[in-house]
Amino acid sequence: MRVAIYSNPGKASMPVSLLLKQKIEQSSQLTLDFLNPEVVISVGGDGTLLSAFHHYIDISNKIRLVGIHTGHLGFYTDWRDYEVDSLVASLENDDGQSETYPLLDIRVKYTDHGPDDHTLALNESTLKQISGTLMAEVYLKGEFFENFRGDGLCISTPSGSTAYNKSVGGAIINPQISAVQVSEISSINNRVFRTLGSPIIVPPDETIRILPVNKHKTVLTCDQQMISGREIESIEYKLSKQRLAFAKYRHTHFWGRVSNSFIGEPRQ
Ligand code: NAP
Repeated sequence: MRVAIYSNPGKASMPVSLLLKQKIEQSSQLTLDFLNPEVVISVGGDGTLLSAFHHYIDISNKIRLVGIHTGHLGFYTDWRDYEVDSLVASLENDDGQSETYPLLDIRVKYTDHGPDDHTLALNESTLKQISGTLMAEVYLKGEFFENFRGDGLCISTPSGSTAYNKSVGGAIINPQISAVQVSEISSINNRVFRTLGSPIIVPPDETIRILPVNKHKTVLTCDQQMISGREIESIEYKLSKQRLAFAKYRHTHFWGRVSNSFIGEPRQ
């Protein structure tokens, strides 16, 4: 099986990725292939796995990802740094087992009428403004929904619901549910301006279209990246038909992960 390693350059991750490389080179069943891998092993945190996804985005429908966490256990990372041997053994005995997560489809139109940008997010996309209040028209399923005013909007996948979305009061969605969530970032609500004021969950067949008013000031992010440089006319979001596959050699209970990450050990 062809395997690539994608590591963050941190002090905790480099020795792990070096050991992993040695073990893969010693294996008769595994080959290192950074250009055309079947499995990509990310070494770092959830942020590193996000970067690995974007690094291999053009072949993301052909790969499976697996994450080694060199800090605390993450949402995309099932393995700990001291488990390199058992991960290599699992890769050698791989029979294609996987779990897939929904992705967010993002299409950006520009005022210059040049080519659209089309990309995917694993966590979320946010729309903000460089300075001042973001003003934007929001359309759901082709119909006008609201005029948004505030710091921004966060459009997330179920697996991204535990990231930025959670910080802005969005609900946590189990990635077994195919849906997109729209959460407000500090909306202005008074007698003049009115937004819904709560997160919404949009089904797979519906699109979310956002038209920013101050187009030259709009900042658009996709996971940890910023999509910028041109004046944005509109952004269309929907659940992607493509899902991202993870090599699953062990079962991790999603709600266990949530409890472990955000609540910790039960107190007596
Ligand atoms: P970062 O600012 O270095 O780290 C953001 C934190 O989010 C890290 O602790 C990371 O975990 C964690 N994280 C990433 N994906 C997650 C997920 N699906 N569930 C729970 N936690 C998750 O940025 P980064 O490492 O490049 O990651 C980019 C992400 O940061 C964005 O996609 C966004 O979700 C998040 N972010 C959050 C806020 C906020 O909460 N106010 C603001 C901006 C961006 P690890 O430590 O395991 O890497």
